[in-house]
Parts: sequence; C-alpha cells; structure tokens
Amino acid sequence: MSVESCRLLLKHHLEKLRLPTIRREWEGAAASCAKERRDYGEFLLQLTERELIEREQRATQRRIKGAKFPVIKTIENFDFGAQPSINESLARELLSGDYLEACENVLLLGNSGTGKTHLGTALGFAACTQGKRVRFWSATALVTHMLELRDRRDLKRFLTQMEKQDLIILDELGYVPFSKAGAELIFEVVSRAYERLSLIVTTNLPFEQWTEIMGSERLTGAMLDRLTHRVHILEANGESYRLREAKKRRRPSESEGRATTPKETRKGGSTDQ
Ligand code: ADP
Ligand code: MG
Repeated sequence: MSVESCRLLLKHHLEKLRLPTIRREWEGAAASCAKERRDYGEFLLQLTERELIEREQRATQRRIKGAKFPVIKTIENFDFGAQPSINESLARELLSGDYLEACENVLLLGNSGTGKTHLGTALGFAACTQGKRVRFWSATALVTHMLELRDRRDLKRFLTQMEKQDLIILDELGYVPFSKAGAELIFEVVSRAYERLSLIVTTNLPFEQWTEIMGSERLTGAMLDRLTHRVHILEANGESYRLREAKKRRRPSESEGRATTPKETRKGGSTDQ
C-alpha cells in the first residue's frame, strides 16, 4: 500500500473511532519515536495517553459549561485572609469532593458579600473537574422556571433530569420569599435530592427565619430536616468583600500606605456610610 493511501485510511479509521488527538498527533509522535529509537509500544502508549488526557479535558469543559455558573470562580482566587470567619480547613476538605460520594449537603451561611456564592461556585467547579454533573441555580430563578414548567405540564421530566445530577447549587435562598406554590416546589427539589445527590445552599438567612420565606412552618421544618440531616456548614460573618474592595478603591492612597491629607480621609469616611 502506498504511504499516501495508508495515511488516508488511517485518517478515516481514527475519525470513525473518534480519536481526534491521535489523528492530529500520530505523525509527529511517529517521527520523534523513530528519531529517538523508541519502540512501537511506547509510541502507542504516548498517543493513547494524550487522547485520554484530552478527552477528559473536553468532558470537564462540557460539565463546566453545563453547570451554568453565572461567573466562574475558583478556590485559587478566594482570599481566606479577607474572611477569617470561614473555616478554611473545612472548605479545603470539601474541595476534595468526599461529601459528594456520601450525598451530603453544604450550607453556606452569612451576610451579603462574604463570598458564599464564590465558595459555592468554587466547590461546584472542583466537582466538575472530578467528573461530577453539577447545576448551579439561583433559588429564585429555579422556582420561576419550575412554576413555568408546571404550567406547561412539563415538570416531571425536569425533576427526573435533576435527579441525575451529582450536585445542585441553590444560590441565594432567602432574598425573596416564595409563593405557596414556589415553596412547595423548592421543597420538592430538596426532598428529591435527599440521600440521592448533594445540595449546596447559600443563604443570608439564619434558620429561625426560614419560615418567613417558605411561608409554612411545617414545610420549613420538613425541608430543614432533610437539608441538615447530613450537612457541612460554612459560616461567614465578616465584612462584605465588595464593601471592603470599594473602600480600598475610594482610598487608594491609604491602602497603599501613603500619607493622606485630612480632607482625603474625610472624603473616604463619608462615602462609606
Ligand atoms: P455573597 O454570595 O456572600 O453575597 P459573593 O461570593 O458574591 O458574596 O462575593 C462578592 C464578590 O466578592 C464576588 O466577586 C467574589 O468573588 C468576591 N469575594 C468575596 N469574598 C472574597 C474573598 N474572600 N476572596 C476573594 N474574593 C472574594
Ligand atoms: Mg451570593
């Protein structure tokens, strides 16, 4: 067989077998293996390893896209020093993903701007890289979406799909109270997730106030019972990171440690209030 037809056939077979990395790289690898006098086994090993690595990277990218994070945030750019109230060792332990294997939940509690959504996203991102199916939802958007599906009699399929996830992130539960139907739907999500998959919930609401957004004491009790049966709680009660950054921006000369005039200090102080 001519070299040219061998190449053409090989290209065809590798496409059929869905091995794009090998298709792209085999000639280069063959040339360098021949030059370094490495044997055929090593050549094949090198190519299959490259294919596997790239396949895993593509799958991770697909999972990250499918998770629909509003903004990608990772642990690398989370400054634990800025939020000392957060239990850093627990947060790092959770990143390993053991809680997902045990279908345990994570609750991120604290004031606005303390990094709850950032940490929730970072945990979700880590889960994606560990091969887990993740879906991020703002709690309000999820309820609105489910109410629409219910009206279209399409909710069942959605809930079945949801059960196939490994992790669902419910962000900002508690900012907006739910309608009666909305509260029942969010309960449905928590109840279906219970012992099947993990939930990460971020909220600014202490437990005592959950009834206010859920409406019913009975529903709140049943929901909290399931949510907190096996839960890891990360609490942040420091200053808002946004506010802190805004203050820094308003007082650049102070944050750089240079002397400031009394006027500048006053100006910064007054806008902080
Ligand atoms: P929350 O959900 O608690 O209201 P966010 O997670 O949305 O707060 O944080 C607000 C902004 O501040 C985001 O851009 C986030 O990335 C950033 N941020 C918050 N805490 C930290 C931190 N400790 N280190 C780095 N960035 C932070
Ligand atoms: Mg948030």
